[in-house]
Amino acid sequence: MNELALTESKVMREEYINRDNVLDRVKALILLPDNMNVTVEMVANYYEVDKKTLEKVVERHNDEFVSDGLKTLKGSELKDFKGYLQNVGNLSDDIKFAPSLTLIPRRAILRIGMLLRDSEIAKQVRTYLLNVENNTTVEIKFQSLIENSNIKLQQLNNQNIELLNQANWINDQNKSLHIEVNCLKTDLCEMKSVLEDMKNNYIFKMYENPSYKYNDLIHRFGYKLNILQENFQFNKFNKEFQNWIGLVFPDNLPNVKQYILNNFGIDEVEKFVNGILTGRIVRSNKGNWVDLNGYTQNDIEFERIKREFNNQCAYCSRNNVSIIPEHIIPKHKEKSTDIIYNIIPACIDCNRDKFDRNMKEWFKEQSFYSDIKLDKIKNHYEKYYVDLKNYK
Ligand SMILES: [Zn+2]
Repeated sequence: MNELALTESKVMREEYINRDNVLDRVKALILLPDNMNVTVEMVANYYEVDKKTLEKVVERHNDEFVSDGLKTLKGSELKDFKGYLQNVGNLSDDIKFAPSLTLIPRRAILRIGMLLRDSEIAKQVRTYLLNVENNTTVEIKFQSLIENSNIKLQQLNNQNIELLNQANWINDQNKSLHIEVNCLKTDLCEMKSVLEDMKNNYIFKMYENPSYKYNDLIHRFGYKLNILQENFQFNKFNKEFQNWIGLVFPDNLPNVKQYILNNFGIDEVEKFVNGILTGRIVRSNKGNWVDLNGYTQNDIEFERIKREFNNQCAYCSRNNVSIIPEHIIPKHKEKSTDIIYNIIPACIDCNRDKFDRNMKEWFKEQSFYSDIKLDKIKNHYEKYYVDLKNYK
């Protein structure tokens, strides 16, 4: 910054006016014995200018100097001051006979330095003032930088502590997780060994292997029918399963069990045995197996009946047409049922034509009627008839 800025700006002068210690740094400043003021001559000596130049400056900026405390002593005030100087042994002749005395305090001396254009000393004062200010600014900035850094450092330190705490917490969690993982591993090992044991267990082998499962089902079937000896259980089952399926196995099979598993599967065996165990599949009055829930509950019974009727319509004997289940006692009539004794295979035409009429009456009106066919239907009815009173 140009030092002449101070000469031109009152605002800047006010800003710097308290820094009068600059005066002593630029040049030794001699004060009056009161240690506060100097005379016009003394200021002229300090700035190495003549008195008139000085007086012009003071006159031009009088209001500023008055505010600095510059004042001119006269009368009794002057007389008192002269007395004071006399007492301290420092009353020079030029003061002793002066009619008035202008006292200039340090602030005003500094202001003169700010205003004097042609004084080398004044120029040094201004330059010094601005440099000090700059230095101060830098110093203050540096100081605040350090303070900020310290604050940042403290914050970082706090964050560091916080992070350390978190790290410790995570570490703890990690440890307990590690322990849990180990526990789980141990559990898993135990489970594996239990599973191995289970695999070797008879029951598990049974359900894993259809052959074991088959044997188990046959035993349960046997116990249900009160047959305790194993050989008899298998023989009885072979016989009853053929009855249920409606087929006769070939003679001299080397392995009947394998034949059943291959041709019907373990699932059909299981459905049949479970049906008997739960009381859903029962014997008809003539000893044939019947599903009390009706032919629609299994895939066996209607197929069996169709075979019994040579895949022909039980009425008209046609076999080159679609064959559907026909209710002997028509649906919606009392005593009508889905149990297989009431079901015979018929073509759609006969089924529709008979509709809800009495079977025997309707059949006897048909051109294809025969006593043999009617007997066959009667035989079917009796073969599978179940007295439901026994199962209520
Ligand atoms: Zn028909």
